[in-house]
Amino acid sequence: MTFDIVTIFPAMVDELLAVGVIGRARERGVLDVKVRDLRDFTTDRHRVVDDVPYGGGPGMVLKPEPVFRALDAIEAERGQPLTVILMSPQGRRFTQHEAKRLAALERIVLLCGRYEGIDERVRSRVTEELSIGDYVLTGGELPAMVVCDAVVRLLPGVVGDEQSVAEESFNRGLLDFPQYTRPATVPGPEGGADIAVPGVLLSGNHAEIRRWRKRQAVERTLDRRPDLLAEADLDEEERRMLVELQKGRRAGLPEVKDEP
Ligand code: SAH
Repeated sequence: MTFDIVTIFPAMVDELLAVGVIGRARERGVLDVKVRDLRDFTTDRHRVVDDVPYGGGPGMVLKPEPVFRALDAIEAERGQPLTVILMSPQGRRFTQHEAKRLAALERIVLLCGRYEGIDERVRSRVTEELSIGDYVLTGGELPAMVVCDAVVRLLPGVVGDEQSVAEESFNRGLLDFPQYTRPATVPGPEGGADIAVPGVLLSGNHAEIRRWRKRQAVERTLDRRPDLLAEADLDEEERRMLVELQKGRRAGLPEVKDEP
């Protein structure tokens, strides 16, 4: 799989791409990522990438031609078809589901906007627009890295343990179960009682541990993200646990009072 990240601040992403899981995947050749400096695709002496907006108003807009030239160069080098993704707060929301879809593609280009955004005509060469959430950032570099990171860790052989990817949050619409490591107890806050690891995890009873984790995952999702449950892909056991938990909650709820 190839990623091409087009930006006016290559240094911002170079560092993130060199370390950790992505850095290792690149070293091992599982992944080919190139960072393209938009200024390399200008033709003027000052390497200008932005200009004032037509119609007036504050800020600057990224010019279309350098982006077109960058896309031409990437296409000539990588081949077709390219999936050109514009990072934009106006795009479709990026989710784990979107990450899975993108992980099946061959060649992805991530266009990072800056200032007031990119000239609208660039959209004629864009396959899709993605937003990482309902807030506005100063540039598309962090969003591009979010997308790249989430997609790359789904590629076969990138995260060491395939099971850890299969079991984690959102995979089937459930949040992950809680994790603990040594030591078995840590001091509580302000000299309070020690906080111990749940006994079941020390029991060595693998069937019990598996059930406990499943139940924790279902309970956490019910507590924190009940919205996920409507679309969750639960097995029989999880469905039973959910019904039980919901019953328990209903029983524990106070009586509905009349409006004051
Ligand atoms: N004026 C634009 C925002 C420009 S922000 C608007 O209101 O739509 C500058 C650049 O940052 C954008 O072009 C985009 O590439 C990036 N960006 C900002 N917020 C983002 C988000 N939530 N998701 C993805 N990209 C974002």
